[in-house]
Amino acid sequence: MVQVNENYLKLKAGYLFPEISKRVNAYIQNNSSCDIIKLGIGDVTEPLPKSCRDAMSKALNEMGTKDGFRGYGPEQGYPWLREKISDNDFISRGCQITPEEIFVSDGSKCDSSNILDILGNDNSIAVTDPVYPVYVDSNVMTGRTGESLQDGTYQGLIYLPINEENNFLPEIPTSKVDIIYLCFPNNPTGATITKVDLKKWVDYANQNNSLILFDAAYEAFIQDKELPHSIYEIDGAKDCAIEFRSFSKNAGFTGVRCAYTVIPKSISGLNSKSEEINLWSLWNRRQSTKFNGVSYIVQRGAEAVYSSDGKKEVKDLIGFYMENAKIMKNKLKTAGFTVYGGDNAPYIWIKVPDQMTSWDFFDYLLEKANVVGTPGSGFGLSGEGYFRLSAFNSREKVIDAMERIIRI
Ligand SMILES: *Cc1c(COP(=O)(O)O)cnc(C)c1O
Repeated sequence: MVQVNENYLKLKAGYLFPEISKRVNAYIQNNSSCDIIKLGIGDVTEPLPKSCRDAMSKALNEMGTKDGFRGYGPEQGYPWLREKISDNDFISRGCQITPEEIFVSDGSKCDSSNILDILGNDNSIAVTDPVYPVYVDSNVMTGRTGESLQDGTYQGLIYLPINEENNFLPEIPTSKVDIIYLCFPNNPTGATITKVDLKKWVDYANQNNSLILFDAAYEAFIQDKELPHSIYEIDGAKDCAIEFRSFSKNAGFTGVRCAYTVIPKSISGLNSKSEEINLWSLWNRRQSTKFNGVSYIVQRGAEAVYSSDGKKEVKDLIGFYMENAKIMKNKLKTAGFTVYGGDNAPYIWIKVPDQMTSWDFFDYLLEKANVVGTPGSGFGLSGEGYFRLSAFNSREKVIDAMERIIRI
């Protein structure tokens, strides 16, 4: 028989969201008349912006004509989309990112996993704790970690705790780490990073020849004008950072699928002879070989995000979710909870009361309020004692959920 990739067997069996479903379904079985409000999963709920829909319809019709039909596009994305991204997301913020340095893809989840293809197996790797589980699991699957330990961590990974004590900002490692995953605004904590603090990471990376994998999936939710939207707003970042961006959370593309990765041409790594190798060339080769590009229709939809109507619609969408977050934060404070996040991110990170664990609090909210959230411990050891609520839901449901929580 074929041999399997045994690294997959190291993955912890009971994953977070299946366990949540299991508990919710069991509760519904025993309480058939209950009306559950889900503020758990990080998926958007509002419909697609009209400008994106119109652009996609137009593109679809074009494809039905002899002249407008298109087959394979460039693996890196169409130049017109890469130019708009470069101008609007980078040049306008003073970041000198060229269209060539932008690789359009079908998601940041895959990009942030696939990036490991071009990186050696022996790099030391740091992740925050709690963390977006994709970074950890993709390292496990590719054999970059040891076995999982009793406490759910993996041997060989470096965990940087983020908690109340450090204001949800990871501390800079005292020794050299090769690859560091950072996500700001953060999922799951909703925390942000200032330019001053991000500069410390960029300086650390440049001093230690480390690579920062910066996930900015939630940059559109930033309200505070001082906070960086891109790591390239920081001097020196073009020498040490790869950035992941996605249309999933800003334009509601979670089901449409479009994202992009920025690899500045100035970033290098070493081969075993200590010669410098350009990472852009490796990623370009990787994408050209393993990826055939995002659909023309979807790229036209993404392009519309940068039209004047599109910008307004995205701003309104973000405003809607951020108003939800504000309502949630205020009501939860009124109910006596200590809450973090929610100011520049669609996530509220609740400190679980009393001596409860994250899962105790999950069951408590489910039973007493019929509200579903996500236990912080599902995102890592240091997430224990916290709980994530997402602002992705209708206004009505958000208000209803908060009223129920206040009443318990
Ligand atoms: C939602 C999310 C993404 C976006 O993933 P896509 O595959 O582009 O939908 C990336 N990173 C984090 C942390 C996220 O929560």
